[in-house]
Amino acid sequence: MRLYLINPRNPIVSIGNIRNNRWNHYRIWKPLGLLAIASATPPEWDVKIIDENISDPDYDSMPRPDLVGVTAFTAQACRAYEIAAIFRSRSVPVIMGGIHATMCQQEALGSVDSVVTGEAELIWPKVLADFQNAYLKQVYAGEHVDMKHIPMTKHDLLPYGYFFGSIQTTRGCPLNCSFCSVAAFNGSRYRARPIEDVVQEFKTIREKYVLIVDDNLIGANEKHIIRAKELFRAMIAAGVNKKWIAQATINIADDEELLTLAYKAGCRGVFVGFESPTTEGLAEIGKKFNLAKNRNMKESVRKIKQHGMLVVGSFIIGLDIDRPGIGKSIAQAAISYGIDLLNTMILTPLPGTNLWKKMESESRIAANSFPDDWKYYTLTFPVAHYKQLCRDGVIKEIEHCDKIFYSVRKIVSRLCGNFLQKRSPLVAMMANLSYKRNIRLAQKTYRHFCLSPQNTRLQYQNSNSGNL
Ligand code: SF4
Repeated sequence: MRLYLINPRNPIVSIGNIRNNRWNHYRIWKPLGLLAIASATPPEWDVKIIDENISDPDYDSMPRPDLVGVTAFTAQACRAYEIAAIFRSRSVPVIMGGIHATMCQQEALGSVDSVVTGEAELIWPKVLADFQNAYLKQVYAGEHVDMKHIPMTKHDLLPYGYFFGSIQTTRGCPLNCSFCSVAAFNGSRYRARPIEDVVQEFKTIREKYVLIVDDNLIGANEKHIIRAKELFRAMIAAGVNKKWIAQATINIADDEELLTLAYKAGCRGVFVGFESPTTEGLAEIGKKFNLAKNRNMKESVRKIKQHGMLVVGSFIIGLDIDRPGIGKSIAQAAISYGIDLLNTMILTPLPGTNLWKKMESESRIAANSFPDDWKYYTLTFPVAHYKQLCRDGVIKEIEHCDKIFYSVRKIVSRLCGNFLQKRSPLVAMMANLSYKRNIRLAQKTYRHFCLSPQNTRLQYQNSNSGNL
């Protein structure tokens, strides 16, 4: 039995575009979700993982599979449905999983034969058995799995071609920021894999660099931090010998021992959600750790950097509190904090989030011709009605922000710091070049987005908005 597992492309996601930006090659990682599903597939199946982000498959010339599994974040949903149509026209059943199918089950069922919601790896063998018995159900509900039972991912199922390998050590987050779908998908209980499983799996990864895909590696309380330290100690003792990056909340900076162990275990960069330069903005989205009293972002970033790690910071434009000038404020905050790389996003109401519920109830979802408009839910397009910024105003703000932070002068100055402090200067250089090139690609995409007739409906007037 032949099974294709497909990761759909989204041509307007800049980071997935390695054809027009070769520097993005240094920022892509193996699609862990499909690797996990492939690893949970019984051995009688011949499994092929197809990642459309790094290849352009000609499905006509490929052997006909017996079954297709497709995954999708919301921005990939349109392409996932196109892929489903291609295979269903050849009478090949298609099963869809991932966060979008979980949050928009009925929509997905309009395009595929079966949907697996939630965490899929434990229910997957049952889905395949039902298929083989010609009894495929329309919906399978994956539950929040006991992390002890997560099968080891077989990382060699995907060929070389990725700069980062990937691994997961925890799931869930109790913090529930309004724009984030982690709690809706993985739950608000922080669940950790057994440390010995993580260490063993780490050793099987071929790539020198690894992305730990956990939404918050260090968790939200003292118990979680103790577990993170145990993990790092075990990785050091086992000689894992990989360089890795991970997402963490800013409180990682509050514990010297945690930072020291993280570096010794191979951590060379942390991705931190700063989200807003104002306390009002942080309160609006419920980013609790960033709101902690006496939090000095500049000092926190300095401590992380002092331990040899790069700091990648993300901010959001389009909060209700954001007025014209927010782009400049974010760039200035990011520069004053001393972060190495800036990832600015546009507030996006993703299905399943509290933000979606709020904006939907206020009729503020602007790009709402679904499923077509899902392709704009990349976190880089103004898909909603923003309180104090019009559509073009939001785009101007993000462009202005990136222009300031990624000016040649600023890049050179940051890279000199990276070289002098010996903090992964080559990685920092490649990432800066990747961001800079993506900004140019994004400008073209924005022009196209604004000019396309269907999107003129997204423009709306607001007397306060639009000027920098
Ligand atoms: S801390 Fe991060 S993972 Fe947790 S809810 Fe907030 S954004 Fe999501």
